[in-house]
Amino acid sequence: MSEPSTPSDELRAFAHTTAAQAGLGRELGAPSSPPILAASHFLSLGDPAELPYGYARNATPAWEALESALGALERAQARVFASGQAASFALFAALNQPRRRRLLLARGGYYGTRKLADLLTSFSCEHELLDFEDTAALARALAAQPSILWAESPTNPLLHVHDLAALARFAHAAGAPFVVDNTIATAALQQPLELGASASLCSLTKSAAGHADLVAGSVATRDGELLARLDAWRSSAGAIASPFDSWLALRGLRTLPLRIERQSASAAELARRLAAHPRVARAHYPGLEPRTRALAARQMPRGAGPLLSFELHTSEGEHAAARAADAVVAAARLVLPGTSFGGYASSWERRARWPSERAPAGLIRLSVGLEDVSDLWDDIERALRG
Ligand SMILES: *Cc1c(COP(=O)(O)O)cnc(C)c1O
Repeated sequence: MSEPSTPSDELRAFAHTTAAQAGLGRELGAPSSPPILAASHFLSLGDPAELPYGYARNATPAWEALESALGALERAQARVFASGQAASFALFAALNQPRRRRLLLARGGYYGTRKLADLLTSFSCEHELLDFEDTAALARALAAQPSILWAESPTNPLLHVHDLAALARFAHAAGAPFVVDNTIATAALQQPLELGASASLCSLTKSAAGHADLVAGSVATRDGELLARLDAWRSSAGAIASPFDSWLALRGLRTLPLRIERQSASAAELARRLAAHPRVARAHYPGLEPRTRALAARQMPRGAGPLLSFELHTSEGEHAAARAADAVVAAARLVLPGTSFGGYASSWERRARWPSERAPAGLIRLSVGLEDVSDLWDDIERALRG
């Protein structure tokens, strides 16, 4: 076997080997896969602190193999939650102690994070939506008030790429915790903690578990105090991952590096072809625009994930744009209609059909699966012909 030569080769080798092996026992008689451990509690007597497990909302071995693999992939400690949103909520709550901090969010980011931030407003937690490329505005916002800088790169659904190392420097200079939502790239393609993030968030529902059969989320961090606060919030707020979902998520995670490399290659190819198609006005994929090509290649050297989006040419306003996009989505025979992303089967949707989404009315978001890329292109081209 040849030695890894570039940082990109090293990340690839690390991700493939770690995902395949993390948490496996070597002792003779060990099971080849961890058991599904379904238990609400563990037999005990006297002081509960004397045993590692008592009540399963506080701690259970059911999460441990998954957390150990997720932690190994980010060279950190990981915690799993009932969903990506549950992980976001616990992380926000854990970072907002002891001071009251304002949440700084990227304007074009995931709408679910904005909806959560809107709900938190009634608990006196304010948030501000910023253009994360406007560094002057960012510096002003960070200086104005204690803040949590909450980035997402690439963003969902416009696939903007933000300079995470630069954002980390800004956050550290202001003493602000720096969160990266790493759901689209996952730790197999991008390592936010290596770039200076305090915590890396992932919706395991999407690519990480990758089989469209569960909802779960995770946080990885190297900060022991933050980890203890996350544990406290998870136990008391109670949004825990089920034993069966944890088992399924680990089963999916084993093949994440393989799947996401193939999906990234296909997504980049389809984005290039879409950008050149006469019916397409704009296609969005990290590195497609010359402006962020070098940054995308530096930050995600092995590929940029399964998600792309595009907009059709229309001359008659938002209503017509939405109708045209709906017709394209409905015309596919292979690409499935539906939300979410990162599964083995390709799917797409007109994103603005969700009421809180701020994407352009006609934007179609495509999650590229594991099908043959030529079959996918034939289907997309046929759907675009109508
Ligand atoms: C889906 C998603 C989430 C939320 O995760 P759930 O598992 O649906 O709760 C958070 N961030 C991003 C970028 C997402 O795409």
